[in-house]
Amino acid sequence: MTAPSLGPSPTPSPALATPERLASFEGRPVGPPTLGPDAVNQPMIRHWVEAMGDENPVYVDEDAARGAGFSGVVAPATMLQAWVMRGYRASMEAERLRAQGPPEGPIDAYEELFSLLDHDGFTSVVATDCQQSYARPVVPGDRLAVTSVIETVSAMKRTALGDGHFVTTRMDYTDQHGAEVATMRFRILRFRPRAPAAAEAAAEAAAEAAATEAAATEAAATEGRRPLRPRPAITQDNAFFFEGARQGRLLIQRCRSCGVLRHPPRPACPECRSLECDSVESSGRGAVFSFVVVHHPQVPSFEYPLPVAVIELEEGTRLVADLVGVAPSDVHIGMAVVADMVTLDDELTLPMFRPAPRSGGA
Ligand code: ZN
Repeated sequence: MTAPSLGPSPTPSPALATPERLASFEGRPVGPPTLGPDAVNQPMIRHWVEAMGDENPVYVDEDAARGAGFSGVVAPATMLQAWVMRGYRASMEAERLRAQGPPEGPIDAYEELFSLLDHDGFTSVVATDCQQSYARPVVPGDRLAVTSVIETVSAMKRTALGDGHFVTTRMDYTDQHGAEVATMRFRILRFRPRAPAAAEAAAEAAAEAAATEAAATEAAATEGRRPLRPRPAITQDNAFFFEGARQGRLLIQRCRSCGVLRHPPRPACPECRSLECDSVESSGRGAVFSFVVVHHPQVPSFEYPLPVAVIELEEGTRLVADLVGVAPSDVHIGMAVVADMVTLDDELTLPMFRPAPRSGGA
């Protein structure tokens, strides 16, 4: 068996990701079991809950934990993966080895599966969901290990992002006695990115009339066109925001009981817990509260270096947005900005921010 070629192939032939081939990955382990570098411990829990702003005392106070029905302090369920993470140094070492080229010897089940999917054009990836179930709480003293198995690879599904396969990985967490502690299922979609409608039309026109100058011009226009931006996850809570954006309006969620504004959108008011809300339109004026300039990792739908800022609107709420119309080196905290509703494609309009024009004229 020869290793399939890596990378996207616009006209794969013949297809490698056949249903039988994909099904053969189900049940295959992904690498050897991983042992957590440290036992579950109170200092790491304390740092975690403080960073998360989680004030539930069952994570740090023995008496409170017993009062809540536990035998003692428990680790937050959301820390499950943290106990088996390989850490910064090992991650950097893995990056260094990857940069040296493909490893010698057999490739693991993931690499093999993703090579097949890459070959057939399913080159994009998005994490779709993660489910955890617990046999018992994780407690200080536990030494966790995890084994990962490719549980299912779906038949090809049509999704809003494009056609693709859902790949579910099951991670079984055990303690130092080999007893089950928790199971996590992590699902991704490997999909074939949809070309923008205009680019498809231009490509078809180019194919039909390649000899004509007009077609050549269109083809040139198609070349270098960026893939579509990733789609936001639209929920019943945030749909108004994106719908407003399509109408060129930057909206902020407002509690109908107490009037407090909040962003990002969520179901309940953090002040009065009311579930009733509407929205107000922002002036679009604000200031850079904080920012980063992204260089890596690069996603083909974006231009780099990419300045991304937390904008504090004059209404008081903050949002994360791209900065446009400014050199990355000129961005600074406190810089006055105004919103620009940028239509990226037929479906997606997003607020971006540019430096505010100086007021007063002179
Ligand atoms: Zn309220």
